[in-house]
Amino acid sequence: MKHVIIGNSAAAIGCVEGIRRYDPDNPITIVADEPHSTYSRPLISYLLGGLVDESRMGYRPADFYEKQRVETLLGVEVTHIFPERRCISLAGEGALAYDRLLIATGGKPFVPPIPGTNLQGVYTFVKWEEARKIARHIEETGTRSAVVIGAGLIGLKTIEALLARGIKVTVVELADRVLSTIFDATGSRLADLILRREGVEVRTQTTVSEIIGRGGRVDHVVLQDGERVNCDLVIFAIGVRPNTGLIPANAGIEVGRGIRVDARMQTTAPDVYAAGDCVEAYDKLTESHRPLPIWPLAYRQGHVAGCNMAGHDREYDGGFPMNSISVCDVPTISVGFIEPPDDGDRYEILDDYDRETLTYKKLILRGHRLVGALFINEIDRAGIYTGLIRDQVDISQFKDHLLSGSFGLISLPKDYRKHMVVGSGIEV
Ligand SMILES: Cc1cc2nc3c(=O)[nH]c(=O)nc-3n(C[C@H](O)[C@H](O)[C@H](O)COP(=O)(O)OP(=O)(O)OC[C@H]3O[C@@H](n4cnc5c(N)ncnc54)[C@H](O)[C@@H]3O)c2cc1C
Repeated sequence: MKHVIIGNSAAAIGCVEGIRRYDPDNPITIVADEPHSTYSRPLISYLLGGLVDESRMGYRPADFYEKQRVETLLGVEVTHIFPERRCISLAGEGALAYDRLLIATGGKPFVPPIPGTNLQGVYTFVKWEEARKIARHIEETGTRSAVVIGAGLIGLKTIEALLARGIKVTVVELADRVLSTIFDATGSRLADLILRREGVEVRTQTTVSEIIGRGGRVDHVVLQDGERVNCDLVIFAIGVRPNTGLIPANAGIEVGRGIRVDARMQTTAPDVYAAGDCVEAYDKLTESHRPLPIWPLAYRQGHVAGCNMAGHDREYDGGFPMNSISVCDVPTISVGFIEPPDDGDRYEILDDYDRETLTYKKLILRGHRLVGALFINEIDRAGIYTGLIRDQVDISQFKDHLLSGSFGLISLPKDYRKHMVVGSGIEV
């Protein structure tokens, strides 16, 4: 039994650990086009901001592959998958046969087709190598101002890194508010206020229509309304789309918004599994399949796939959106539904907003269950609320205390408290 994994990030490592749990012996090969040993992608903004150094980027210790008996082909691009022949082809290196395959190719950053994207000083920001290149550009050109396109999670992380380097930032967002997919209108207003307080120029309901250069290098951008913004650096942070370019048409692997998988993380082709940002994963709150590009979910999906690849039956019980992001050092957490969906169910909102301290807490309830939580500037009990959402705990007995300052583990029913403290309620 030969296991082959395309990818070397959260989903791939989850898969290795899932396989080795039940199959200590059969060979595993990881093929990835990035040259590094596995690393924590969410740390690249801290690396760019100078808050961590390269020695802290590793997601597993240096001897991980040796200990797990994994052969690695790093810096090698997979160009095709041939499910009917059970092999993949490698750029310049022939082909590799598999008995069971995991596709864990992650997400691909979106770059709109506008003039000027080929200029020096224009980057996407999803890889370690890109963080290095941007840092080099800043140092070599003495970059003083940047335009970040996109005010979502990656955009905000990019802004924080650039501010840490003393760079003046303008953020351009097509939606009518920042962080529009993970915050409600009040949360976005707060984030906007915090960004402007730190000197960030915020432009919403517009986008960059052209990047203009001078001597081959970025000089300024032109917005849709004709405004010109001078800058030495442009970073696209519009978000990632499932990276499914490798999947050949008519090969039996169905692709919708991402690769389609069943609860065992198997694709529609025999012995081909997929996990992480490249799939349409099961969202247990909306009870639908959709891309959920979140690190811990990628790991869990990969782990489930790995167990199944090793012959042990396992099912993925689904995830839901969970984002923890600091907006210029103000901590925030957004989990599950942030705006009640218009789906015929009845929702109730509990909230508390303090403009003086810029603190906002919001909980969304469906019947006696919590289905969403948004916290800005006070995230102390976020883990408890996330657990209540994940485990769909009946909150009717302690609903009135949910937002009180004294709410904590002690407020929970005894059995559930035990599950949170010593049982599977704790997720690492
Ligand atoms: C800047 C940034 C900050 C983030 N912050 C957070 C955060 O705070 N919290 C959070 O939960 N999530 C965060 N995320 C999202 C998180 O990083 C992803 O959900 C996670 O990395 C997905 O893991 P994955 O294994 O599916 O794929 P990826 O991490 O995208 O890795 C894809 C792998 O596939 C390989 N690959 C792709 N194509 C090929 C090919 N053709 N041939 C060979 N190899 C290939 C790549 O080399 C790579 O190893 C952040 C993402 C970014 C970019």
